[in-house]
Amino acid sequence: MTPSSPPGGPVYLDSAASTALRAEAYRAMLPFLQTEFANPSAHHAAGRRASDALEDARGRVARVFNAEPEEVVFTSGGTESINAAIKGVAFAQADAGGGRHILTTAVEHHAVLHSAQYLERFGFEVEELPVDEYGRVSPEEVAAAVRPDTALVSVGYANNEVGTVQPIAAIAAAVAARASALGRRIPFHTDAVQAASTLSLDVQALGVDLLSLSGHKFGGPKGTGLLYMRRGTPFLELLSGGGQERQRRSGTENVPGNVGLAVALEYAQAERGEFARRTGALRDRLLAAVLEACPDALVNGHPTERLPHALHVCFSGLEGEALVDELDRLGIESSAGAACTSATWEPSHVLLAMGVPLELAIGSLRMSLWSTTTAEQVDYVSRVLPSAVSRVREAAIPAPR
Ligand SMILES: *Cc1c(COP(=O)(O)O)cnc(C)c1O
Repeated sequence: MTPSSPPGGPVYLDSAASTALRAEAYRAMLPFLQTEFANPSAHHAAGRRASDALEDARGRVARVFNAEPEEVVFTSGGTESINAAIKGVAFAQADAGGGRHILTTAVEHHAVLHSAQYLERFGFEVEELPVDEYGRVSPEEVAAAVRPDTALVSVGYANNEVGTVQPIAAIAAAVAARASALGRRIPFHTDAVQAASTLSLDVQALGVDLLSLSGHKFGGPKGTGLLYMRRGTPFLELLSGGGQERQRRSGTENVPGNVGLAVALEYAQAERGEFARRTGALRDRLLAAVLEACPDALVNGHPTERLPHALHVCFSGLEGEALVDELDRLGIESSAGAACTSATWEPSHVLLAMGVPLELAIGSLRMSLWSTTTAEQVDYVSRVLPSAVSRVREAAIPAPR
């Protein structure tokens, strides 16, 4: 028997991978995709209108960050922002004798880990701090690992697989105190890509020098991103050319994209309390149903310090990818963890760093809710998930002869 498909179309539980462009952002972008197409560097009235729109967007973002407009750099996405923060600061530090030690954690997004590892072939040393069973590092541990030759510290705000939130303000403060005891200032970067819908992005309260965001993770357009860079942070640009973005990121600016990004960020931040309450209640309802039907499921992430819309569980005796396929057939769009680009199945580095046994790490399922998720959808998933788990387990385990 095949269970009924969901009433109102597919159930989207993959907001950690991407979100729909919100209507307000789309409307704000339209003129700049159609009639207002001039290059913002152009010396005519149309160019000035484009430039004004770009600077208006920058001002809106700066207000969200509690920062100066000059400290906001528009990029092409989370990956570019993170690459620029890590490589751009590392090369500038090495150039100025600021050290070649990069300190990060074992549970970062690949954009962070692979950017850091890229630097190893230029003589940098990368240290990935271990995490506890919830995927957290402590401020004391990070500060204790800071050395006189540490060029940069990078710790993610909220994890994209299990949703664990790091105590960024406390970590940044501990690092700053340790750096100051060493007579130095050490730039602190946070990958905040997963944080924009629910957490504060006030860079003064957080005490960070660099912060990365991706537009499409909070209702903005794909191919847009933000890098907050505190004034005075050592930096060598990745993209050289016409000198746009105050020499920090050359290339003709994505005016429509950045206009949409700024509008989406303002809405996401204005609504984050309500978003957290609503998705948190639905997530807890889904979690309770999953645990009732599958009491042996392992729930991952910190019990309280976790994104409210994130739910990550591991099942024994199955492969996460097979479960994702089975759920897809039932009209439920989920993920086995981070988006996997290779055909070969690799268990998540995040789960392994948290000490999840390999057998369970393989059977991971990430369901990330959004503002559009309804109670009816959650109840549908609760109804069909247990039998989907059983079917996938039966297919995975050879029947006894
Ligand atoms: C999605 C994501 C990124 C990469 O963002 P892109 O927009 O895909 O470049 C980086 N870090 C985290 C935590 C993410 O979730």
